[in-house]
Amino acid sequence: MRFDLIVVGGGHAGVEAAAAACRLGKETLLITHNLDTIGVLSCNPAIGGIGKGHLVREIAALDGVMGKAADAAAIQGRVLNRRKGPAVQAPRIQADRQTYAKTIREILDTYKNLHLLQDTVLELIIEGEMCVGVKGRISGCIHSEGVVMTTGTFLDGRIHVGNVKHDGGRAGDPSSIALSASLREFNLPIGRLKTGTPPRLDKRSLDTDKLSIQYGEDPRPKFVRFDRRSLQLPEVPCMITYTTPATHEIIENALEMSPMYSGAISSSGPRYCPSIEDKIVRFSDRDSHQIFLEPEGLDSLEVYPNGISTGLPFDVQLAIIRSCPGMQAARIVRPGYAIEYDFVDPRCLRKTLETEMIKRLFLAGQINGTTGYEEAAGQGLIAGVNAALAISGCESWVPDRDTAYIGVMIDDLVTDGVTEPYRMFTSRAEHRLKLRSDNAELRLTRRGYELGLVSEQLWDAYRQYESELDSRRRWLKETRIYPNRLDERQKKKLGAGLKRDMTLYELLKRPDIDYANLLCVIGSEADGEVDRVGEQLKIEALYEGYVEREEHDNKRHKKYADVLIPIELDFDSIDGLSNEVKEKLRRLRPATIGEASAISGVTPAAISILLIHMKSKG
Ligand code: FAD
Repeated sequence: MRFDLIVVGGGHAGVEAAAAACRLGKETLLITHNLDTIGVLSCNPAIGGIGKGHLVREIAALDGVMGKAADAAAIQGRVLNRRKGPAVQAPRIQADRQTYAKTIREILDTYKNLHLLQDTVLELIIEGEMCVGVKGRISGCIHSEGVVMTTGTFLDGRIHVGNVKHDGGRAGDPSSIALSASLREFNLPIGRLKTGTPPRLDKRSLDTDKLSIQYGEDPRPKFVRFDRRSLQLPEVPCMITYTTPATHEIIENALEMSPMYSGAISSSGPRYCPSIEDKIVRFSDRDSHQIFLEPEGLDSLEVYPNGISTGLPFDVQLAIIRSCPGMQAARIVRPGYAIEYDFVDPRCLRKTLETEMIKRLFLAGQINGTTGYEEAAGQGLIAGVNAALAISGCESWVPDRDTAYIGVMIDDLVTDGVTEPYRMFTSRAEHRLKLRSDNAELRLTRRGYELGLVSEQLWDAYRQYESELDSRRRWLKETRIYPNRLDERQKKKLGAGLKRDMTLYELLKRPDIDYANLLCVIGSEADGEVDRVGEQLKIEALYEGYVEREEHDNKRHKKYADVLIPIELDFDSIDGLSNEVKEKLRRLRPATIGEASAISGVTPAAISILLIHMKSKG
């Protein structure tokens, strides 16, 4: 058998990689352990959130798969950070697990050049310095022009529940032991990481009267902007409970039975998605932690208690659950577990996600030390695109740090590597005012179309949107409004009044004026109706000054790149720097302003504060 490209693994990275390569016209083989687990959500049934939602919006802007499946499978959704500025807002949805995986499969089935094969890959076929295929357990040698490996938590995966250990890539799935050994043979730098998941509960065993309910937003937010389908699944709300002092006592008394504390697991887990054991130890002053009881689906009787991932023994898991309000009689249907697995140090990768030592071998997803469906999908897309471009002999494409969160993630991974599972946060992006969830299409769709990634349908919808934006922006900038020509109704609508004549665009920059107000003020036909173009222009007007300032600061800082930062400087004493920036500066101790600016998440604004502080100290 021979294909242009082979993608190993049908998780979130593999799906996006295979779909992207197909969109670029490559005959692609997706080979995975079990065709029924393509697109499976291994952990929580939710997609998006701060940083992660930005990634999904970017994937959608490049016509990727994740956003489409998430919209189709959503049973609840919210825009997180609603009270904060648009730059840090992002959608998050709860998904019906089965619909999500089913939709992924339906989308993949639309690609005529995608071939699926259920088999276990045992090793890579390398000729000279080039990866030219894989060897499947049943299918034998399969040749190709390139390979994308997206094996997630499966490489030499070992599952722990208390002192019960067994090989496994995820509950119910095998570990990839032979493939891991094959990678070691080719001298890829391999390390070990861990993650964990909570037990799943039988919904019928919960006392819902003792739980608070959280509904999603109406209308439900979507990841795909130009999808006009109105069909959506009915809502299923989340429920909320919390740990109690009794829970904490149970965990403290059982700590030595946790694989992370008994020494059975020594690798690092995700600091920002800690196990309940870690939370109790690290935040010992807190006597309660919130637990979101997330629905697993429309017809599912299972509930996912988000916030209590654990590797403790089964009986301790049950005691923990039963010590929380509303769960005194709860039944566990799937035990929680911790999993340790091999990853490849991403510093051995180029930005295209091709390995430095083996040509045409691309790695994407959790294999590169990340955690999360969205992070995996973003990398999968980039690996799939660049594998296809390399096969065609075309120039590679990777978005820069100031173009996309995907670019930030890839630059972070290949430059800094990981010491714990890498997760996306808005604080990692120094250009976050520009990299907003609302403008993902404006940043990426044109380039995606030039590459051949974006369908004609999406491109047409995008162009219509872009031209509507341009013409309305022009109109707003050319239309002036004068204080002495306002009638009483207009004055009332304007609230804070108008001190001088100005363009409608300038007026839109005022925080108290949204697009609906603006239309009311001028008595426009579409009185009060805010559409997406209007919303986009409002955000653009609001951020324009800040983004310009950010770019100006960037240029200015380049002049100061060689300025030395005093060794004795106490970053913690600098007012105005966020705790995250202080922590990074303290840990990495940059010698110059140039080095400080190159640290992921250290924004131009933070550099300005640092410079002002240094100047004030002479
Ligand atoms: P996966 O989704 O793991 O897919 C890997 C695919 O490769 C599978 O289809 C597998 O069958 C296939 N495969 C592997 N080896 C072979 C082989 N040799 N031959 C053929 N096929 C193979 N994310 C979070 O954001 N927060 C969390 O709290 C969180 N907790 C997690 C807890 C657990 C226990 C697990 C397992 C995962 C957790 N995740 C969490 C991570 C999330 O599930 C992954 O980040 C995401 O699924 C990674 O996507 P991926 O495509 O890289 O790999």
